[in-house]
Amino acid sequence: MTYSPAPAVIRVALPSPLRRLFDYLPGSHAPADGWQPGLRVKVPFGRREVVGVVVEGPVASELSAEQLRPVTALLDEEPLPASWWWLCRFTARYYQHSLGDTLHHAMPALLRQGRPLAGRTQEQWQLTAAGRNVAPETLKRAPRQAELLAMLSQHPHGLVTQAISAQGFQRDALRALQHKGLITAHTITLAAPPPAAGSLLANPALPLHQEQATALAALHEKLDDYHPCLLEGVTGSGKTEVYLQLIEAMASKGRQSLVLVPEIGLTPQTLARFRQRFSIPVVALHSGLTDPERLDAWEAAASGRALIIIGTRSAIFTPLANPGVIIVDEEHDGSYKQQDGLRYHARDLAVARAHHHRIPLLLGSATPSLESLHQALNGHYRHLRLTQRASRFPPAKLELVDLRHRHRQGGLAPSVIKALSATLDAGHQALVFINRRGFAPTLACHACGWMAECHQCDAKMTLHRQPPLLACHHCDSRRALPDACPECGSGDLRALGAGTERTEESLLGLFPKLPVYRIDRDSTRRRDSLEQTLREVQRGEPCLLVGTQMLAKGHHLPHVTLVVVLNADGGLYAADFRALEHSAQLLEQVAGRAGRAAHPGRVLVQTLHPDDPNLGLLAEHGYHALSRQLLEERRTARLPPFCFMALLRIESPQEEAAQALATQAAGALRGWLAGGDSVRCLGPVPAPMERRQNRYHLHVMLSADKRSQLHRACSWLVQWLESSREARKVRWSLDIDPQTL
Ligand code: ADP
Ligand code: ZN
Ligand code: ZN
Repeated sequence: MTYSPAPAVIRVALPSPLRRLFDYLPGSHAPADGWQPGLRVKVPFGRREVVGVVVEGPVASELSAEQLRPVTALLDEEPLPASWWWLCRFTARYYQHSLGDTLHHAMPALLRQGRPLAGRTQEQWQLTAAGRNVAPETLKRAPRQAELLAMLSQHPHGLVTQAISAQGFQRDALRALQHKGLITAHTITLAAPPPAAGSLLANPALPLHQEQATALAALHEKLDDYHPCLLEGVTGSGKTEVYLQLIEAMASKGRQSLVLVPEIGLTPQTLARFRQRFSIPVVALHSGLTDPERLDAWEAAASGRALIIIGTRSAIFTPLANPGVIIVDEEHDGSYKQQDGLRYHARDLAVARAHHHRIPLLLGSATPSLESLHQALNGHYRHLRLTQRASRFPPAKLELVDLRHRHRQGGLAPSVIKALSATLDAGHQALVFINRRGFAPTLACHACGWMAECHQCDAKMTLHRQPPLLACHHCDSRRALPDACPECGSGDLRALGAGTERTEESLLGLFPKLPVYRIDRDSTRRRDSLEQTLREVQRGEPCLLVGTQMLAKGHHLPHVTLVVVLNADGGLYAADFRALEHSAQLLEQVAGRAGRAAHPGRVLVQTLHPDDPNLGLLAEHGYHALSRQLLEERRTARLPPFCFMALLRIESPQEEAAQALATQAAGALRGWLAGGDSVRCLGPVPAPMERRQNRYHLHVMLSADKRSQLHRACSWLVQWLESSREARKVRWSLDIDPQTL
């Protein structure tokens, strides 16, 4: 027998849910600085070729040379940015997720597809000698080309294609002028930093009011180290101005600011506010970007060229060459948590990242999450507060309107209708908030009590009128409206309850002379329609707005002086222990839309439970008071943030298969925990909506007082699941720090 040494291999992370690395022979490839972690390679995987990332190498493989295949291509000369690499590894470990899958999630699409990052180039356009001397009448028949030529003549050093299309010119115009020999393109690399510009600001900063100045001064005390701060400031108190001035301070030292905003917060309105302030570019990462634009933004951040980067959840994975601060606006917002696949929380990663970079972290909210509030109250975060609005009027108190035994018209109590009339008569605007789109929550038979239910979920179907149909908001299945009750044949089918469409209809009936604008996911499907409506509303003519939480957050609606909440009771008695926190946050945010400018606001909250103590506290003393009380309740009940949770979610079209795995997994885990009480295991229990999209959902809940204990139990559980035969037949995922059940 001949002795053959173990072959040296490269360990690669691949886009696979499997939590393991894959070995490849280096082949003929030899990176200049060795096989550093973070280099991308193309490798054969099954019958496909995929892009993977080198994690280590060369190391001795346990496999024989015959079982191994070589790397097909080496894609990078230099590894992907080190801090990004660190974040991905941290994320994969913390969320018990496959590293390869995490890396793929955190990369722009073009990098995932193997395109180069370094040395990216762009075309830069300049006039030729012929173009400089062209006679004015030459382009008389092509006015756009003439304009483009005129613009280029203002830029003797040339303009890149992107800058030209940003001015509204089409590629055709460039090609036409090139064809005529009037302009020429040459290729430039984008990696170099721009020359230091003069002033950072396009518009001067506002003089800060006292509380803002105190907060900013506190931030300035420690700009060069990890310095987590919670900025708890009532709606309209000027948190954004504090962000802007902190960003300015960082940019003046050439350091980068990463700003995270909620999904519905990255509006042109928000962006415009940032772009108006700064003369340097504000790079926005939003869903409207093309793949090349996204890569561009990534590269600009990674190279340090971009000093201000603003984006939603996934922007937390933007590499930064010279990080200065991470700001998370509306840090309590649910959209920061990804709800499938890699279930990360961007705010929590922001904390880890700021700690790693040793930079300040600023979490801002009018309604902080109990997690962040706890850290602020126990001294781990610096607690900064803005209690006054920047405008004249303080946020309005909630006035509870008792709905019991009241005759309602279109879902509105008589006193509410009176208040609406008075507001509109005074020439102001009113906003009616209802957290349900569609016409009505369901359709019911008045003869036998039948209700329209989804065939695939344990849920009622929502009645829509525009267009008329029944839709399930959980699985998106649709059905035509029945002519008669499918149970008893009666024709007496009625809409039960109200959604935005029905409320819109009622308001049109009550105030036929005024425009009613409905804002929800259905009415704003068309691109820009939300912006258009808001522009219309901002003109200030009296009108009614009706909408879901899309309308409730972030927007500055200076002419709204009355806010009506149709029904505040949704979150009061829900099974999820976070429901009350979330609904209180939403109520406070909705209320914050009222009276932000020249006139004071009023907020009317309709409820069937006017005596509910939590609602009473919220109305009387605001989220500030309620949140502290909820925190005490969590402490007593040993719920987060006073413990750490993980949720094993199991789903399958076969109820028995889901049940079998859930029982086995919980049993195995309890066996491993061996009666110790450091980690508690609850379940399996059916998910709150057990059947969804014809799949059965079960939960096993883990909780622990120490994060390290929870982490160990989760690691063990994941390994058990990956080696379980039963687990291959169903879908499972582990949700670390679950936000909803
Ligand atoms: P928040 O982000 O806390 O909801 P904003 O930053 O949107 O509050 O501020 C609300 C309004 O007050 C905005 O119109 C803003 O321009 C204005 N504002 C903020 N700070 C000041 C200030 N120091 N002086 C004057 N106006 C201010
Ligand atoms: Zn019936
Ligand atoms: Zn459904």
